[in-house]
Amino acid sequence: MSSIEELSDLMRTFVAERDWAQYHAPKNVAAALSVEAAELQEIFLWRSLEDRADDRRQDVEDEAADVLMCLLNLCNVLEIDLDAAFRRKLEGARHKYPVERVRGRREKYDEYDEWDPST
Ligand SMILES: [Mg+2]
Repeated sequence: MSSIEELSDLMRTFVAERDWAQYHAPKNVAAALSVEAAELQEIFLWRSLEDRADDRRQDVEDEAADVLMCLLNLCNVLEIDLDAAFRRKLEGARHKYPVERVRGRREKYDEYDEWDPST
């Protein structure tokens, strides 16, 4: 069992113990995920690019955990194998952004000259 599966099971149990699945329509859980991501982003709002918000480290950790909880819950609701989805997307990103072309560059692939990522 992967760590993702273990965390998904913990989240599933947490929801089941409280009988909250009845409130977890995908629309609501996806919205909750977005709200938690915004709460994480708010911590860094108006800070400099270099500022790691070390003075609010616990808040950053809490919001990061909230984001993960909501994501795991959404995947449980929709019966998504997050481990498999992550690995599939990472493999796609490896193909789309080959190291020899993108290392040290931040442009999107469609901004490169003469590069067709589909080939
Ligand atoms: Mg939160």
